[in-house]
Amino acid sequence: MDASAQSSSITPAFVAPRRVLMGPGPSDVHPRVLAAMAQPTIGHLDPAFIGLMDEIKRLLQRTLRTDNELTMPVSGPGSAGMEACFANLLEPGDTIVVCENGVFGGRMRAMSERIGAKVVTVSDPWGRAVDPAKVEDALAANPDAKVLAFVQAETSTGALSDARTIASIAQRRGVLTLVDAVTSLGGSPLEMDAWGIDAVYSGTQKCLSCPPGLSPVSFGPRALAKLNQRKTKVGSWFMDFTLVTAYWGSGAKRSYHHTAPVNALYGLHEALRLLHEEGLEHSWSRHQRLHGELAAGLEALGLEYIVPKAERLPQLNAVKLPVGVTEEPLRRRLLDEHALEVGGGLGDFAGKIWRIGLMGQSCTPYHVQHCLSAVGAVLGKSG
Ligand SMILES: *Cc1c(COP(=O)(O)O)cnc(C)c1O
Repeated sequence: MDASAQSSSITPAFVAPRRVLMGPGPSDVHPRVLAAMAQPTIGHLDPAFIGLMDEIKRLLQRTLRTDNELTMPVSGPGSAGMEACFANLLEPGDTIVVCENGVFGGRMRAMSERIGAKVVTVSDPWGRAVDPAKVEDALAANPDAKVLAFVQAETSTGALSDARTIASIAQRRGVLTLVDAVTSLGGSPLEMDAWGIDAVYSGTQKCLSCPPGLSPVSFGPRALAKLNQRKTKVGSWFMDFTLVTAYWGSGAKRSYHHTAPVNALYGLHEALRLLHEEGLEHSWSRHQRLHGELAAGLEALGLEYIVPKAERLPQLNAVKLPVGVTEEPLRRRLLDEHALEVGGGLGDFAGKIWRIGLMGQSCTPYHVQHCLSAVGAVLGKSG
């Protein structure tokens, strides 16, 4: 077979459709991030790459508002950073208090159980923030608790919990806090050091507006001390921070642990540069302001929020569909007729709500306008 016959027999190149991404992530990626990722791949131990890693670490520290030396992107999506944090912080038999008010709190509980920890669950209804008074009670009732874990921004429901207050309750009792900041980072205030948070993980495809696949994590001094005092080895070789830091630690001397996703890290660097060009606090206020505009428009269209106003997460707007409307075909029309992606509901909310993201590069006046006119069009036509 000659070369041309061979090439005509393979599948055509994939052409990604143009979309406006307003679901629960990924969000729209800035062309500068895509351009950065299209640069030539270099070695993961190349001196130029090591310089880039130092820059990424510095920018992540600035984004998390921390001086923690152990701050790095885990090679894997948000769930990988999440599992890495639990695997490093918990030993079998440790007691952990997990706050569950949506899907991701449930995932925290599942990961803790697999490690063999004793899990105490603090439950709040889906669509509500974590209740600090319940956290206080759970810690009082479980003086052996070593870790308190909660989700700051519950993407499954659009509820924002008061991370500062919850972390201060744990700190007063000498319990370590582990915070899921996957959807909050870059979109809502998070002050790792000032609020006394010991461990955080995040993701790149929400308010940082990178493609999915990396998970920034940070461990403070108390989390590190617990890690260093472990009696058992971390259950996962790949996720063991005491090994990964041979690569992500500081200084020029780096040794091979795994091959870092080089081009993805070019992208993260550029996305963090974009965020800090705007200014972190400006980004927080942009999310709040445009959420206000979107909420006013959605409510004018007759869509009600599931979360009470004071507990709403600006970057994830969960609204009930009018009764009698079939959700899925309508969401499909948003995609087909308006190139607009929004998320459906999970769990008990499946078929009943839409989750409309306003994250990072997808949080602009254009996105608010496009979403309101598309949603208005499909609701108007349907009925
Ligand atoms: C998206 C998300 C995750 C998981 O991230 P993946 O990249 O999908 O693995 C975890 N927690 C929260 C709050 C999220 O929104």
